Amino acid sequence: MKTKILKWFEQQINQFNTCEYKALKTIIKNFDDKKMVANLLETSYEKVVCPHCGEDKYYKWGRQNNLQRYKCKECNRTFNCLSKTPLARLRKKGRWLNYSKCLAEGLTVRYSSELCGVSKTTSFRWRHRFLVGSNEYKTTELNGIVETIDFTIPKNYKGSRNIPKPSGRNGRYDNVSILFSRDRNRNMYDSVVEKLSVNSLRDNLKYILAKDSLFCSINSNLYRDFIKISKRRHGYIDIEKGEYVKKDIVHINNVIRYSRGLFIWMIRFRGVATKYLFNYLSWFRDLEEFDMNIPSKDILIRAMTITNKLQLLTQT
Ligand SMILES: [Zn+2]
Repeated sequence: MKTKILKWFEQQINQFNTCEYKALKTIIKNFDDKKMVANLLETSYEKVVCPHCGEDKYYKWGRQNNLQRYKCKECNRTFNCLSKTPLARLRKKGRWLNYSKCLAEGLTVRYSSELCGVSKTTSFRWRHRFLVGSNEYKTTELNGIVETIDFTIPKNYKGSRNIPKPSGRNGRYDNVSILFSRDRNRNMYDSVVEKLSVNSLRDNLKYILAKDSLFCSINSNLYRDFIKISKRRHGYIDIEKGEYVKKDIVHINNVIRYSRGLFIWMIRFRGVATKYLFNYLSWFRDLEEFDMNIPSKDILIRAMTITNKLQLLTQT
């Protein structure tokens, strides 16, 4: 079956000269290069430790699917660099790097599946497995002037089999909130919050707000109450009264610009299920941090290494 993209590609190839044609053949040869991807994964596996017990005493135990296998001397179990990571047991390794490129470009599930020659189901599964690494890359401290805003949106049950009946006023679905906090050094924190309250604000922000930070937000009871318990300096603005900047520095324009960029970027996905929303927040955070030009291999390596490290931390 010739898809639109294939027809377009065929037209382009007809215009290629010999050199370009040769270069294209190399690209196609490398397209599904399992060894290349396996090599990239293994060289990024900094310190080999058993993902089952955390011991670093092991010996080599043959190779499987182009990856070195190890056997732990302590627990006798075997593992490779992908064991217990989100990438474990995923197939078609040769196409992972190309798929990461699709993520780096913010492409849709359907388009990525066409470009990488995998089904839409696989494309969807890969997207969420690959993005797990990005979730762990949230900032742990916000310094200086910290701008905060929240948005409340209806819950989205896209892809769910059991969709609950709408409840509440006007027969609407329940809501969920997204919290955005950003300091002037572009450190970004975001979170999906079931019910936004002083307690949920404290759980999310209290420990990452530097003690001497200046907390900027809209003037609402919620934020005023939060400031009382968090004991930070604060600056409120009354957007409803047309007040956008106070004393030249108190404003939330950066965080508003960021969140607007996220919502515009998400339009391409035609609705995002609430249960996956945090993945899209992380994805956009990554893209924005790298000025929409994140190296594709970084996405892959993050998914592999971060989880390994986290597992060790939780075991100790
Ligand atoms: Zn072990």
